[in-house]
Amino acid sequence: MSQFWSPVVSGLTPYVPGEQPKLPNLTKLNTNENPYGPSPRVLDAIRSATADTLRLYPDPSASALKQTLADYHGVDPAEVFVGNGSDEVLALAFMALLKHEAPLLFPDITYSFYPVYCKLYGIEYRQVALDRNMAIRPDDYRQACGGIIFPNPNAPTGIALPSATIEMLLAQHPDVVVVVDEAYIDFGGESVIPLIRRYPNLLVVQTLSKSRSLAGLRVGLAIGQPELIEALERVKNSFNSYPLDRLAMAGAIASYEDEAYFQKTCSAIVENREKLVQQLHTLGFQVLPSSANFIFASHPSHDAARLAAGLRERAIIVRHFDQPRIRQYLRISVGNPAECAALMGALAELVRG
Ligand SMILES: *Cc1c(COP(=O)(O)O)cnc(C)c1O
Repeated sequence: MSQFWSPVVSGLTPYVPGEQPKLPNLTKLNTNENPYGPSPRVLDAIRSATADTLRLYPDPSASALKQTLADYHGVDPAEVFVGNGSDEVLALAFMALLKHEAPLLFPDITYSFYPVYCKLYGIEYRQVALDRNMAIRPDDYRQACGGIIFPNPNAPTGIALPSATIEMLLAQHPDVVVVVDEAYIDFGGESVIPLIRRYPNLLVVQTLSKSRSLAGLRVGLAIGQPELIEALERVKNSFNSYPLDRLAMAGAIASYEDEAYFQKTCSAIVENREKLVQQLHTLGFQVLPSSANFIFASHPSHDAARLAAGLRERAIIVRHFDQPRIRQYLRISVGNPAECAALMGALAELVRG
């Protein structure tokens, strides 16, 4: 606290991202980064953009990237918004579309940035409990609200809702915006982007951080009807004209031009995940059905916090959330085969003693 702070700053509870320790030889399975690097074509494109032209401002409307995304997803460029990571896209969506009289609804167990944005913007919210199986139950959202947001697949559970279920939710709430945060959609979920045609209240948010291995480049996007996109543009242009730099746009475009690499690395992660789940079962872990690049697991006879500490002693970091309902779970990012093997070796020691 300081006399110089504005009142809003004193009241904030900032989001705490997963740690990024700078130790060598660490098996880092705590922030859902992609174990496979970005496509070599992305790196080439960034190198080519690293030129004298960096003295010039980037295109404030990011037209080339929007056109690439529109072509890729079969929508119009006017239905695409881009930002500095999907966290920024989400932040702008909270301000532009989710701040209303009635409370915003989201799951009790979900991406912990949502309540942080609500506090920042003074948005009232209500958390809707996941069901006993840790799944989102759409019927529980049948209540007056100013908007709805959830990740699909949900984080940190990894559980995906089928597109038809989300469509039901959209039809039940025609008067409010429903934001579907598809950060992990490429690892097995079904994107609802095709539903924007029929649902003007749907905004789909995606990121290049996870499935495209570009967490360090900071590119996120939203897709929805032009009316929703215009709201985001209005807020963006009242805040920062150039959220995406020249290198980020060049790299992002190149990523969508290497579909083969994208498919190959996504499949490898899904394959590693399925193996990991089987091995965890052998050690007695219970694992929620994951459609993401992480798994959410608990052990009936081993405390999750102690397991996390034991892994850390063995230079493996995973995420543990000290919060009601999920204290006994570990969220483990799916690594490459060597990382998965290191994890399983350490867990076997910890569980079998
Ligand atoms: C990782 C993540 C994001 C943010 O990704 P960016 O790196 O900011 O693009 C958004 N939503 C969920 C649910 C995430 O897990």
